[in-house]
Amino acid sequence: MTPLIIDGAAVSTVDAAGTEHAFGHVVVEHGRITAVGPGQAPRPAGPHTWVDGSGCLVTPGLVNTHHHLYQSATRGYAPDAGLFPWLTELYPVWRGLDEEITHAAACAGLARLALTGCTTAADHHYVFPRAGGDPFAAVVGAGRRIGLRLHAVRGSMDRGAAQGGLPPDDLVEGTEEALTATEKAIGDHHDPAAEAMTRVAVGPCSPFSVSAELLRGAAELARHKGVRLHTHLAETADEEAHCLATYGRTPVEHAERLGWLGPDVWLAHTVHLSAAAVKALADSGTGSAHCPTSNGRLGVGVPPVRALLDAGVPVGLGVDGAASNESGSLVEELREALTQARQRGGPGALTTREALWLGTMGGARCLGREGELGSLEPGKLADLAVWRLDGLDHAGIEDPVTALVLGPRPVVRLLLVGGKTVVDDGALRTASVGDLARDLRAAARRLKEA
Ligand code: ZN
Repeated sequence: MTPLIIDGAAVSTVDAAGTEHAFGHVVVEHGRITAVGPGQAPRPAGPHTWVDGSGCLVTPGLVNTHHHLYQSATRGYAPDAGLFPWLTELYPVWRGLDEEITHAAACAGLARLALTGCTTAADHHYVFPRAGGDPFAAVVGAGRRIGLRLHAVRGSMDRGAAQGGLPPDDLVEGTEEALTATEKAIGDHHDPAAEAMTRVAVGPCSPFSVSAELLRGAAELARHKGVRLHTHLAETADEEAHCLATYGRTPVEHAERLGWLGPDVWLAHTVHLSAAAVKALADSGTGSAHCPTSNGRLGVGVPPVRALLDAGVPVGLGVDGAASNESGSLVEELREALTQARQRGGPGALTTREALWLGTMGGARCLGREGELGSLEPGKLADLAVWRLDGLDHAGIEDPVTALVLGPRPVVRLLLVGGKTVVDDGALRTASVGDLARDLRAAARRLKEA
């Protein structure tokens, strides 16, 4: 791989000092960043690739901390429902999921993420119909095909309606069965290397679809294997009422008791938090995956992002599954996060730079990758996005970070993952979007008819 030089661009490094260059460069070699700085990069004597960054902003690649890629095949269902009725309408549709549908949906969802500046994606897959083959492997295969870094969370549900849970009984696994399959998924797919393209995490779905035994066993398994833990928590007022009625504890108290707080845990949503719950997340180093568009579509509420950040909680952004966020576009979550935080906490509740931090370094911290991802610094992996800001959409917005966060979604001029080109001039280079759209349409139709 010859060195790649981007110069003439604005650069927002998102390093600890918040270093920015109005006119700077980034140099990439052997999959890593070797130089970042102001002005032009010195040209090497040997062969190299030069990218004219004029009119563009370079940022770290965005990190998506929460998704359900399979849901790309079930967009548009229950458009006006809250979480529990939405799930109740969707569970029967998800019964028809198999590995072919999951692969088509995952490829389409990952392509949407790549085209909106994302280089690392966490996926939480928790639906395993008996006749569906291995949808988890299908998601991992989709990550390889599209070329994004994937944190594949092996989800699970073991508490169907007969045990007081929300999902239908034929859509849940046995407790031991789920733990055994999760252990196998780690053995088959987890790569602990710093350069890993695929990591596996352990992810029972939610307090209302998972038994206390599975949560406890999953935490023990993850720590035994040295992988991270992820689940939905404190998403809705209904969930809190369910936990209080069933366990006599709030969702965060329930999680804490079962070993589900810690620096190796990141939780999706964390909307309904008391001051004590914010402190419990901060004291334990637990991360939060904030999904503003999905929260808005389902009307679940706005999490206390300002309080979480002030307490030192790592907060990242997620698009969530496409059944509750049909757009599946990560860059637009920067603006959603900002506007929702300010609706809750006033104009000082989140700055534009903090919104970019959530989508990059905050996400890397949630996934335990802050040592190699999340900022543009020499030695880090070459995962970056070059955003085109010189067209009509952004003309006259002097500050490029403001243009990115508050302006319309820019075209991605270049997206690199480990130095490899995934998007070039707004076009996906790793797969045909025409093929992906055709396969997604067929998958969605097959699911609906099933
Ligand atoms: Zn979710």
